[in-house]
Amino acid sequence: MTSTDGADRGVLLVPGDDGATGVVLRAANGTARAAAMCALCRTTHSVGGVGLFAAPRSGAKGRQGDTVGTYICADLSCAEHVRVEKATAALKPAPGMTVDERRAGLRERAAEFVAAVTA
Ligand SMILES: [Zn+2]
Repeated sequence: MTSTDGADRGVLLVPGDDGATGVVLRAANGTARAAAMCALCRTTHSVGGVGLFAAPRSGAKGRQGDTVGTYICADLSCAEHVRVEKATAALKPAPGMTVDERRAGLRERAAEFVAAVTA
């Protein structure tokens, strides 16, 4: 669902009825200074694993510098992280959920984020 094209930039691709919508994400203020949970895939990472990213809003607001920020996996690998079966010290998937449930949740929250950016 996501791909990186550099250390501080990536594109969030969310499938929808009219094809995939891409949102450009820019890393903002580095990474979280404590263990933190990704807002999209709900994976909890150890220090440094979650970063603040900002996406410019669509249209005039975006041209004026208005962005939507969110804390997500610093490596933008949410789609891989939801498939992790066993928690490790560095990476803890949302407990009590199947991989399919986590993937569905990721799709839902990513779509909500895109809706906020393109609103
Ligand atoms: Zn994530």
